[in-house]
Amino acid sequence: MTTTARTVIGGNWKMNTDRAAGLALARAVSDAAKPLASKVDTAIFPPFPYLPIISQALCDAGSSLWLGAQDCYHAEKGAFTGEVSVGMLKDVGVKIVLAGHSERRHVLHEGDDLVNLKVRAILNAGLWCILCVGEKLEQRVTGQTDTVNERQVRLGLREVSPDQLARLVIAYEPVWAIGTGKTATPADAQDAHFNIRGVLADMFGKDAAARVPIQYGGSVTAANAVELMAQPDINGALVGGASLKAEDFAKIIQAGAR
Ligand code: PEP
Repeated sequence: MTTTARTVIGGNWKMNTDRAAGLALARAVSDAAKPLASKVDTAIFPPFPYLPIISQALCDAGSSLWLGAQDCYHAEKGAFTGEVSVGMLKDVGVKIVLAGHSERRHVLHEGDDLVNLKVRAILNAGLWCILCVGEKLEQRVTGQTDTVNERQVRLGLREVSPDQLARLVIAYEPVWAIGTGKTATPADAQDAHFNIRGVLADMFGKDAAARVPIQYGGSVTAANAVELMAQPDINGALVGGASLKAEDFAKIIQAGAR
């Protein structure tokens, strides 16, 4: 299947930065991304409290960066202490939201049903969604990588309509590779991406599946980004650690634009 997907690079800051450092990082990434905006879509995912000031700064700079949120809650409003709705995110300029990041799944114990509710809330609000999937180490060594990915994709996208797929990105992030310095080989990552695209094709048809960007995530660095994104089914990267250094992240954006 020929991929017609755009390249999407995401910088997931997790629970890092403060107000001043976040603003400086957003401005530096914005400068790096602007000249490459025709070739690659770049999003940053700051912590919730800094979204409004970063949103304003990006707006003032006429930035091409997409402002992203690391999570959301699926209900519109109400008695959900500590949660943040998709409408609130939209209100402060967020364009793209992560759902099912491995730290949400495995540290905060979110299951596929909750992830699916979040995916639908994000897409129903007209925002872009990155659905994160990936196997744990014990699942990889017992040969379950594709089964786990297929289950997370099918359950995550339950009741998503074909037209909503135009605003969907999948991030394949093997759990054992996130924040560990271990990276899937480009060939292993390509295999997993190829299978994920096959699941999308089965659910939504080949053409629609070919247009969905599938990012790789898991210890992506300036050094390994080119080789990973040279694979035919790897359409970008979701980056944690290396997205906190503007210079390193700029090199990853450049790798995505090649
Ligand atoms: C992530 O947060 O999605 C991630 C892949 O982190 P890291 O790049 O640090 O492994």
